[in-house]
Amino acid sequence: MIKNNRLSEAEYKVNFSDIHPPYTNVNAALVDANRCLFCYDAPCTKSCPTSIDVPKFIKQITTANIKGSAHTIFSSNILGAGCSKVCPVEKLCEGSCVYNLLDEAPIPIAQLQRYSTEKAIAGNWQLFTRKPSTGKKVAIVGAGPAGLSCAFNLSKEGVDVTIYEKESKAGGLMTYGIAAYKVTPEFCEDEVNYILSIGGIDIKYNMALGTDITIAELQAQYDAVYLAFGVGLARQLSVPGENLTGVVDAISFIYELRSKGFSSVPVGDKVAVIGLGMTAIDAATQAKRLGAKEVTIVYRRTQDEMPCTQVELDIAMLDGCKLSWLAAPKEVLGADGKATHLVCTKMKLGEPDASGRRSPVETDETFTLEVDMVIKAAGQMPFEALVNGSSLNNKSGKVSVEDKSVTSINGVFAGGDCVNGGREVVDAVQAGKDGAKAVLSFIATNATNEH
Ligand SMILES: Cc1cc2nc3c(=O)[nH]c(=O)nc-3n(C[C@H](O)[C@H](O)[C@H](O)COP(=O)(O)OP(=O)(O)OC[C@H]3O[C@@H](n4cnc5c(N)ncnc54)[C@H](O)[C@@H]3O)c2cc1C
Repeated sequence: MIKNNRLSEAEYKVNFSDIHPPYTNVNAALVDANRCLFCYDAPCTKSCPTSIDVPKFIKQITTANIKGSAHTIFSSNILGAGCSKVCPVEKLCEGSCVYNLLDEAPIPIAQLQRYSTEKAIAGNWQLFTRKPSTGKKVAIVGAGPAGLSCAFNLSKEGVDVTIYEKESKAGGLMTYGIAAYKVTPEFCEDEVNYILSIGGIDIKYNMALGTDITIAELQAQYDAVYLAFGVGLARQLSVPGENLTGVVDAISFIYELRSKGFSSVPVGDKVAVIGLGMTAIDAATQAKRLGAKEVTIVYRRTQDEMPCTQVELDIAMLDGCKLSWLAAPKEVLGADGKATHLVCTKMKLGEPDASGRRSPVETDETFTLEVDMVIKAAGQMPFEALVNGSSLNNKSGKVSVEDKSVTSINGVFAGGDCVNGGREVVDAVQAGKDGAKAVLSFIATNATNEH
């Protein structure tokens, strides 16, 4: 049965506590920092989408220059604190650490990054000075990682930024999407406030593009516009029974969990999660941590093709989630309007597709899972209606850009998930930096500022 309040407050606290705890004493951080080989061609820096100078910030920790270390990180990535908690480091910086080649544990780069950046946020260290106002004004749509990163980098250069955000809090999926055991709402709020403390950034909450304001209106009021509205809800399954009670969208499920509190989120006894990306893992593990008795992840290919990392899969498996490989949803059966069973088609692998992964091919065989909840997490859908309502060039709702952030409308730029269709926070941060650079160059040469 789907119900809320399954566990005690103490159990929720344990289940949703920090999955990667911070250092508890300075010596542990120093020991780890001193293991760094400070490689001259630092593969860790090369594999970071925001190019953080990892050897430099680690060296600064070894000399107790924590302010310098935080400055090094934030210069490349103003969401460096959040990224230290949510980045899939096993496939980025830590995955490329040379210690892996020596069969030794890589430097815990994320933990060290967290060490410096959390101190900076806790102490509200002002490490950057905003240039005097240039009088230029830029509107940003969306206060997620891409929008905040763009806003910070513009404001630093003396541009006055106004962000239009449809929710009542900033942070985007950091605040409303990513698993609660990776980042807490309190941390997200602190990180946003820290970014805004540079000054020159005003956020207008509960203001949605398409409903409360249009691109044309923003263009009329500002020197340039940057779009960073992310992607939307989970992709439809397009199978019979999808509208039965108990079939929910992963993003909405996680949004409720992040915004309403754990005890108020209803979860089933027997939950099936469709998909095996980061969203699916987060939905499955959090359903289990909310008290679901059985969680089965249904994925249409094999472990060799899965989109999540091994580390993420391990989290789900350690939480007791089951995996049903080579299976695709065929139909949700119900009684009295409620989902009761999920019929799945058994799949086999065919030829590689455009992504290079072998494609799933249907067989004639099916099997049935008993369920009371089905969570859809097989990719997200871009805000097609929003994009189609404008004259923005797009591919199935993903905003098309040239030179990293230039859209088809003069003076309108875009980046982050609304362009790439959904990647990681660190990619959105870099997109925001690229966007700020393009906007600065545009307003330096084009803007008349006669608003
Ligand atoms: C469930 C889930 C788990 C994830 N886990 C991880 C993880 O562990 N690690 C990781 O690195 N990445 C993770 N990601 C991906 C990561 O969250 C995104 O790549 C990143 O947040 C994208 O940033 P963005 O600014 O482009 O978009 P978003 O974070 O989506 O921000 C977009 C902002 O625009 C606002 N907005 C939307 N429409 C409008 C409108 N019409 N008008 C005004 N404002 C609007 C939104 O409210 C939001 O604040 C996860 C994603 C999901 C869905």
